[in-house]
Amino acid sequence: MPKKRSEKIEKAIEFATNAHKGQNRRSGEPYITHPLAVMKIVEDWGMDEDTIIAAVLHDTVEDTDVTLQDVKNEFGEQVAFMVDGLTKLSKISSSMNDIDTYLPNTKDNLLRLLVATGSDIRVLIIKLADRLHNLRTLSSLPPDKQKRIAKESLEVFAPLADRLNMGRLRVEMSDVAFSYVNPKRYNELHELIENYSKSAEKTMQKIQKEISAALGREKIKFQISGRVKSVYSLHKKLAKHNQNMGEIYDLIALRIIVNDITDCYLTLGVIHSLYVPMGGRIKDYIAMPKINGYQSLHTTVITKDKRIVEFQIRTKEMHEFAERGLAASFYYNEQKLTENYRTGKIQHLPTSLLWISELQETAAKLKAGKKVDIKKLRLNLFADKIFVYTPKGDIIDLPKGSLPLDFAYRLHSEIGEHVTGVKINGKMSSLSTKLKHGDVVEILTSKNPTAKEAWFDRIFTAHARQKLRAQLSGHKLSDQLPHHKIAQKLPRKKKK
Ligand code: MN
Repeated sequence: MPKKRSEKIEKAIEFATNAHKGQNRRSGEPYITHPLAVMKIVEDWGMDEDTIIAAVLHDTVEDTDVTLQDVKNEFGEQVAFMVDGLTKLSKISSSMNDIDTYLPNTKDNLLRLLVATGSDIRVLIIKLADRLHNLRTLSSLPPDKQKRIAKESLEVFAPLADRLNMGRLRVEMSDVAFSYVNPKRYNELHELIENYSKSAEKTMQKIQKEISAALGREKIKFQISGRVKSVYSLHKKLAKHNQNMGEIYDLIALRIIVNDITDCYLTLGVIHSLYVPMGGRIKDYIAMPKINGYQSLHTTVITKDKRIVEFQIRTKEMHEFAERGLAASFYYNEQKLTENYRTGKIQHLPTSLLWISELQETAAKLKAGKKVDIKKLRLNLFADKIFVYTPKGDIIDLPKGSLPLDFAYRLHSEIGEHVTGVKINGKMSSLSTKLKHGDVVEILTSKNPTAKEAWFDRIFTAHARQKLRAQLSGHKLSDQLPHHKIAQKLPRKKKK
C-alpha cells in the first residue's frame, strides 16, 4: 500500500517525472521507474523527507536538463546538497573501470565516500538504495557490465551496508551480486542450504516447541523464527575454515525476540537449562556490541538428538537496528543524531549503559523478595566480566581483574606456558597490566616453555593458576624430584 506522501514529495515525483520524460532504461521501462523505486526503498528504511526527495531527484542533474540551481530553488539547500553528492558519486563511478581508481589511497571506503560526497551519510544511504535497485534489475545489462557492478557491490557497497549495520540490505546485495560474480558457486551453496534446511525442518520445529513451552513457563513474552544463513556469508565462512562444513554451526539459527534486555539474559538461561551449550560459543554482543553497533546474545547448543543449533536472542529494538541499521537509528533518533550524520561521525547508542541499568533492575526485582531462581541468578555472572579481543577479533570473556597471563591460559594452556610478553592495543605492556573491557590483546610466545613461579603474582583466575601449577610440577617431575616435595614447594596464594 502506498503511503500518504507529503505535498513536497508529490511535487518532487512530478518534477522528476517531467525531467526524465522520454528516457528509458535498458529494460525498456520508462526511466522514472528507477528513481521511484529508489525512493520507495529509502521510504521503507524510514528516512526523513529531505532524503526521500533527494532519492527521487538523484539522477536528474546528471541525466537531464535540470541544474543543481533548479533543485535548490524548488526543494531547498539540504536536498540540493544531497543530489550534488550523488551526482559526484556517479561521475566517479562511471569514469572508472576498477575499484582501486575509484577509491584510491585509503582502505577506508566509508571515509573515502564521505569525503567524495561531502560528509552527509544520507547521501550514502541513497547511494546504497540506488545500488540495490540496480542489482535487482541487473539482468537487463550486458554481461561485462553485470560483472563489474556485481563485483563492485561485493567489494565496496555490501561491506559498507555491514558497517552501517544494515543487515537486510547487506544480505540481499551480497547474495544478488555473488550470483553474478560466481554463478556456479552460488547455485551450489544455495542448493546445499536448501537441502540442509529441509533435512533439519522437523528438528527445528521440535526445538521451537520445547523452547516456546519453557519460555511460556517463565512468563517471558517472545517471538521465535528460523533464519537461514545467506549464501555469500556461507561462502566467506567456508573460505575461512578451509571449506570444512563441520566448522559451520549457524547454517540455520533460531532467532528469539523478547521485550527487554533482562529477558534476553533470562532466555539465554532457559536455553542453557534445556540444552548443553558448546564451550566458547556464547557471545554477548549486548554487553559488548560489534563495532557496527550490532547487539544480540549468541549461543550454540547441542540438542538431545545431537543437532547443533545456534540461537540469537535480542530485543525488538536490537532486531530493528540489526536489520535496518543506521537507517533505523536515524528514524528513532533523528533529532539527536542528525548533527553526527552531517559531520560524518557514526555512533551507536551507549548500549553499555542501557545494559547496566537493566541489570540493576533485575537485581532489584530479585532483592524485592521475589523467588530467587538459580537460573535467573546466572545473569549476574555477566556483570563481573570483561570482554577483550584477540588480534583476529575473537571475543574472550574474562573475570574483571584479569591479567595478560589469564588471557593466555584461556586461549590455550600451551600458549600460557610459552609467554614472553604481551601487546595490549598494539603497545608492549607489562604482564601485570590489568586488562580492560575492549582491549585487543596479543600474546608473544617463544619456542621453549617460560612458565615460572613468579607468575603466580601475575595471575588472577583460578583456571590459569591451576594450569600453571600443573605445568610447574610437570617441569619439576621431569627433574626427578619426589612428588611430596613438589607439593611443599608450590607457592601459596598471595594475601592481598
Ligand atoms: Mn540511479
